[in-house]
Amino acid sequence: MSEREDSRLALHWQILIALAVGTIAGVLINPGAIELPDENLTVSVTAMAEGNADSQPTAVFADVNDPAGLETVRRRFGSEEALLAAFPGLTDDAVGDGQTVELEVTHRSIVITETLGHISIDYSRRHNARPVTSSVKASTVDELPEHWQAIYAEHGGGVRRKLTAAAKYGGDLFLRLLKMITVPLIVTSLITGVAGLNNTSRFGAMFSRTLGYYFVTSLLAITTGIIIVNLLRPGIGADLPGGTEAVLAGGDQSLTGILLGLIDNMIPTNPLRALVDSSFLSIITFSILFGVFIIRTGGRTADTLREFFEAAFQVMMRLTMAVISLAPIGVFCFMVYATASQGLAIFGTLAWYMLAVFLALVIHAAVTLPLIVKLVAKRSPLDFARAMSPALMTAFSTASSNGTLPLTMTCVEERAGVSNRISSFVLPLGATINMDGTALYEAVAVLFIAQAYHGDVTIAQQIVVAITALLASVGAAGIPHAGLVMMAIVLQAVNLPLEAQGIIIAVDRVLDMCRTMVNVWSDSCGCAVISGFESAAAESVESAHAPAE
Ligand code: ASP
Repeated sequence: MSEREDSRLALHWQILIALAVGTIAGVLINPGAIELPDENLTVSVTAMAEGNADSQPTAVFADVNDPAGLETVRRRFGSEEALLAAFPGLTDDAVGDGQTVELEVTHRSIVITETLGHISIDYSRRHNARPVTSSVKASTVDELPEHWQAIYAEHGGGVRRKLTAAAKYGGDLFLRLLKMITVPLIVTSLITGVAGLNNTSRFGAMFSRTLGYYFVTSLLAITTGIIIVNLLRPGIGADLPGGTEAVLAGGDQSLTGILLGLIDNMIPTNPLRALVDSSFLSIITFSILFGVFIIRTGGRTADTLREFFEAAFQVMMRLTMAVISLAPIGVFCFMVYATASQGLAIFGTLAWYMLAVFLALVIHAAVTLPLIVKLVAKRSPLDFARAMSPALMTAFSTASSNGTLPLTMTCVEERAGVSNRISSFVLPLGATINMDGTALYEAVAVLFIAQAYHGDVTIAQQIVVAITALLASVGAAGIPHAGLVMMAIVLQAVNLPLEAQGIIIAVDRVLDMCRTMVNVWSDSCGCAVISGFESAAAESVESAHAPAE
């Protein structure tokens, strides 16, 4: 154990060093984005509901007056209203006809990257403050469209661009590894967590109270995150690398439609297909049900399955740790790519993002949870926090709820005086499924990315983010960076590209330490709350029996 902790600490330092060295290397390599002068350009927008009746309105526009932007950009919109809102100046009856509108085009820059056999040119600019990025990819210069060939001839080539591209490739490989482990990790972690509950006799009431506590506090955490992200708006104006023209899902749907869609998604008609398609919501539901029915089945069958999934989970944890041990390389690559292609401005962007996550975590941990401890558990939050401090500090330094679990249990029982019956149930389950800090983090990070790509995010989309962030936090294992792996669920739910995670990986470790501390703190407070309920229930049973006796 101590050997593992040592290596975790070492990893933590490795990542910090990779971050610093990658940043410096990126600054030195920086071939620079080619900044084009800002000017007002006329963009011809053809807005139409293409093809059959169900298809979404599409705007096709070409920057005809833009020397770098003779390309055609096509964007799909959820509804005609969304399209009209995106292009002020378009009139209702223009949809279907095509119409020229004035769009203010600003912040134009071109990033050229190349690696063996690939040249890619990313052209980003803002149309009426909305970020739009288009990319051209080709194997050779000759394959590029003509006007891009001219731009390449003027600005392309060079070792610096090749190094930048190589760094991106290295970072992408790390992302692929993370994606590779996600599905088996969710399945084994969830089934093990649920099936491990074991005894079904007394725990009916405790089970529902505990789940109620997990649910309420996670939702409160997510709400705090969402409020802060709407107040600070860290993503507005942020330029994330690897831009896209993805369109947020849900913008066109009613809330009921979205929720019904989510429910549909939660019930797979074929669990195996859900696994193959990495359909996370389906996988989570099926795994929880499978775990519950392992307990219901009981006997030797349950023992065998429990043992099997526990063993598989152990292996997945080891594999995950191995992948995570590559994080310094991944972080290094991402930092080189980020600073080499974006310049240091990216830190300004990430500073706001980090501040948003941090502030929301502090509010949840220092205001909301203590209030619950005070009002529901009727204990002094300060004394309770003091009792829990060794576990909290361990959680911070290891960034692993699972790793901290033995300490959390010891603190809750020995220092805070909660019974073992409660702690042995509430804490292990909590380490797996109750992650307030992670839920909050998922919501803030995804809304940050959504803001960066699409500007402000509608309430309906925020609700989708909130619900999926809750599920992602339930599915996340209590190990370092699990939240980052699970973020795919939330990104997938709102149709954002997984690549958008690239840049926030660089600062994930620091945020992971903070959110893990909040995760463990919430589990501990859960023990205090359940213990408060249990003793109140015990008292009322006693007093109900007293007159009869
Ligand atoms: N590291 C966190 C934990 O162990 C999970 C996460 O990555 O959010 O609780």
